[in-house]
Amino acid sequence: MSDILHIVGGGMAGSEAAWQAAQAGVRVVIHEMRPQVGTFAHKTGNLAEMVCSNSFRSDDSEQNAVGLLHWEMRAAGGLIMASADAHRLPAGGALAVDRDPFAETVTARLMAHPLISVSYEEVTALPDDGHWIIATGPLTSPGLGAAIQAETGAEALAFFDAIAPIVHFESIDMDTAWLQSRYDKGETEEERTAYINCPMDKAQYNAFIDALLAADKTEFHEGETAGYFDGCLPIEVMAERGRETLRHGPMKPVGLTDAHRPTDKPYAVVQLRRDNALGTLYNIVGFQTKMKYGAQTAVFKMIPGLENAAFARLGGIHRNTFLNSPTLLDSQMRLKSRPHIRFAGQVTGVEGYVESAAMGLLAGRMAAAEILGRPIEAPPFTTAMGALVNHITGGAEAKTFQPMNVNFGLFPPLEDARGGRRGRKERYKGYTDRAKEDWQAWLAAST
Ligand SMILES: Cc1cc2nc3c(=O)[nH]c(=O)nc-3n(C[C@H](O)[C@H](O)[C@H](O)COP(=O)(O)OP(=O)(O)OC[C@H]3O[C@@H](n4cnc5c(N)ncnc54)[C@H](O)[C@@H]3O)c2cc1C
Repeated sequence: MSDILHIVGGGMAGSEAAWQAAQAGVRVVIHEMRPQVGTFAHKTGNLAEMVCSNSFRSDDSEQNAVGLLHWEMRAAGGLIMASADAHRLPAGGALAVDRDPFAETVTARLMAHPLISVSYEEVTALPDDGHWIIATGPLTSPGLGAAIQAETGAEALAFFDAIAPIVHFESIDMDTAWLQSRYDKGETEEERTAYINCPMDKAQYNAFIDALLAADKTEFHEGETAGYFDGCLPIEVMAERGRETLRHGPMKPVGLTDAHRPTDKPYAVVQLRRDNALGTLYNIVGFQTKMKYGAQTAVFKMIPGLENAAFARLGGIHRNTFLNSPTLLDSQMRLKSRPHIRFAGQVTGVEGYVESAAMGLLAGRMAAAEILGRPIEAPPFTTAMGALVNHITGGAEAKTFQPMNVNFGLFPPLEDARGGRRGRKERYKGYTDRAKEDWQAWLAAST
């Protein structure tokens, strides 16, 4: 019998990792702290509990990146998807799940697997040897969080996210916006033009502030704010502190000249910074927010240049323990400083049930392959799995790293010359066709 794989955390990622490794023939122990030690969000002792909404989002595998991730997980025999499909609720094109039977099914199937056992205990130290996957999620217990931080350094493990909205570059109107770093700073042309700038006159700025103040906001969950600090205030809170606060903060217009109207001095400027190596995604600098998603779309489209913005993800601030994965993890999701430990799930800086389960699936397969003496490569980043793992372990900007949902902005552009001129529908179909073929080839080569 091969070595044992220990998995800390039996949530979305840990459950899927355990299933994949056991199906490959590896003995697995899941260490789960609930029900002995709880979190403010979990309510049961079940594995794979859905802590909030009951949606796995879009199930469209041709036109939607999360639907594609569903498809890839199903093709890999994923337990989370099989259990979600078994307890599907009517929800149009989305995959909504009957949460309690779903979690009960995942728990029962894991417990019934001859190679899997569950040890109900909190793990509070990083193991010195063996094969481990840490999948303790956004609410990693404080004891283990401290142990991880002692290993990675304080800067590399965050306890709250502060997510600014991310926009697809192709949807920004560059006849209104322009490229320039403040005061043209930088050694190279690339650095001097690192930001996209969107100008506002006084009337536009005032209308924007009014919309921010009036927008619907979400509240923190009870117990969620413990440890929250003032360093990453939502923009609407800054606006509440005074109409001019944003103009002296993230929207300050100094050191910038409107390339299209050089003699007009903008009253305020919204800046966007490149978010991935591909240059397909830009985040709106300093625009973390707790506005509801519908309100965000409406308010951010008031920014000149972003009228037709397509958002790869919207902003948010949550209690969320996550690593600076681009600096800490290798492409196999191993901690570079302790390669016998992998991380998986939301703690790696992906966001959402599906993405977390997906990273569990990959970590489980990679760990099992290593234990069985036939290591596998990470999947190509033309697949949804590969695009996501490539983003968190290298493609994302480490300095500004924040949790990410899967989206087509993470995929390499289509190779054929017509790619750029295709309509969106045809392009997305091109991405998903390519991904399915490449995912099947990777599965065949790695099993
Ligand atoms: C309040 C809140 C609301 C959310 N709402 C949504 C939503 O609506 N939709 C969505 O897609 N995502 C949502 N998320 C994100 C969601 O948590 C993740 O998408 C998903 O659950 C992450 O999967 P995971 O396996 O990484 O972590 P989890 O599913 O949280 O699993 C981690 C497991 O590790 C256990 N654990 C923690 N520390 C230890 C330890 N030291 N020792 C042993 N076990 C430990 C926990 O008990 C838990 O079972 C929400 C998160 C929070 C905090």
